[in-house]
Amino acid sequence: MTIDNFAGRVIAPGDDAYDDARHGWNGMIDRKPALIAECRSVDDVVAAVKHAAAHGLTAVARCGGHSVSGASMPEGGMVIDLGKLNQVDVNTEARIAHVGGGTLLGELDAATQAHGLAVTAGVDPSTGAGGLTLGGGIGFLARKLGLTIDNLEGVQVVLADGSVVEANENSYPDLFWALRGGGGQFGVVTRFDYRLTPIGPEIVTAWAFYPLEKAHDVVRYIRDFMHDASDDVGMVPVFTRVPAADPFPADWHSEKCLAVVGFHVGEEEQAMAELQPLLELGELVFGFNTTQPYVEFQKSFAEANPHGNRFYWKSIFVDDLSDELVDVMLDGIRTIPGEFTSIFIEALGGAAGRVGVTDTAFANRSARYNLGISAGWIDPAMDKEAITASRACYDKLRPFSDGTVYLNYLDRDEVDRTKAGFGPNYERLCAVKAQYDPANLFGGPLGGAE
Ligand SMILES: Cc1cc2nc3c(=O)[nH]c(=O)nc-3n(C[C@H](O)[C@H](O)[C@H](O)COP(=O)(O)OP(=O)(O)OC[C@H]3O[C@@H](n4cnc5c(N)ncnc54)[C@H](O)[C@@H]3O)c2cc1C
Repeated sequence: MTIDNFAGRVIAPGDDAYDDARHGWNGMIDRKPALIAECRSVDDVVAAVKHAAAHGLTAVARCGGHSVSGASMPEGGMVIDLGKLNQVDVNTEARIAHVGGGTLLGELDAATQAHGLAVTAGVDPSTGAGGLTLGGGIGFLARKLGLTIDNLEGVQVVLADGSVVEANENSYPDLFWALRGGGGQFGVVTRFDYRLTPIGPEIVTAWAFYPLEKAHDVVRYIRDFMHDASDDVGMVPVFTRVPAADPFPADWHSEKCLAVVGFHVGEEEQAMAELQPLLELGELVFGFNTTQPYVEFQKSFAEANPHGNRFYWKSIFVDDLSDELVDVMLDGIRTIPGEFTSIFIEALGGAAGRVGVTDTAFANRSARYNLGISAGWIDPAMDKEAITASRACYDKLRPFSDGTVYLNYLDRDEVDRTKAGFGPNYERLCAVKAQYDPANLFGGPLGGAE
């Protein structure tokens, strides 16, 4: 199969590379696209988009392939693979990074931290900057710098008619608004321009692993602590398993626990003092605080959700961490099976909460936390049990939610959450979609496609 004016590689059913190329991070997704267009340039992206339009194929960009719902793998459609568009150019004077649309977070962090700079991004280096940014982008720097989209200066986009445009506050402002939280369903972003901030290079972190029995006391402390915390503080408590490795005590290996990860980018002595109480909330399984390079910290969770295994997600925004909410999370971590299952709480607020909810397409700016169930397991025979238990936990979480949801954590059976999920931004997003992609070439929940 060929694409006119295309210099990249085309992978089609029957090719040796096809099976590897059609599988992403979530092993539950087993879709068969009509072709995968591995692009090497913006011109290749234009050629691929025109080919898809001419042949009636849904065309979906892929960056890191981390979408839990398989949003970058359309059944019978075209994958526009951007993995080779991964160049990062850092302008240290202007403090801007020009970043290819197929760049991974690890590549982005490494290039920017080489200059002592950073843009806030997620916790796994193999997540794509593309999907993460277009959905919003929650990271440990969210309270300091806001979401990733709050640090976006502009983008280059290939539209459905094959034209290449620059979108920013002054050029295509409605498109730029929609791309900040509305996902990749409006065009293919071939370049992101991020504003950078001096961070680190050394930061202070605290790691505290508590028995589940201590969860109420620990979360109560975090609830009060985060009410008064400065924007320099990041916080992710996770119900998970103790790593089966040194230096964790052998009798705790793989046992369920509450792991608290605190993060501080302020002055070292004060940062150590502020995070120290996180290690003193009862008898620890294991814990320590340390100074470490930000770029190394950003790789800490690389092994937590191994590529190719089976995953199922649910998430809600919550305003606070009540005792009743902790009861539901404890029940969830005890009943949802899976070697990699976790229930995590991402602290928001700070800079992320000071942006108006309609200033970007991101659904919720007032919630203090985003709470996610990430069920993860190996054996396909466990699919039904893991999904059923995750849904049951989510049903108990629902009363704590206002219906808005983080697009990037929506799983494939949740298209019906889209309307309420985008909150006050839904109608405007639909209008932008109708304007820029009237034939629904790029698919996505606003186009009615899966
Ligand atoms: C292990 C793991 C850890 C994660 N941690 C975080 C975290 O800390 N913070 C957080 O906010 N999220 C996190 N996420 C969620 C993540 O933001 C989403 O899964 C996101 O969709 C991944 O982006 P991707 O480029 O890797 O995915 P892909 O599957 O490649 O793409 C996802 C969606 O974005 C679109 N897209 C991607 N690139 C482009 C582009 N250049 N132009 C147009 N559309 C594009 C795709 O078409 C698709 O709809 C994590 C996910 C995983 C699996």
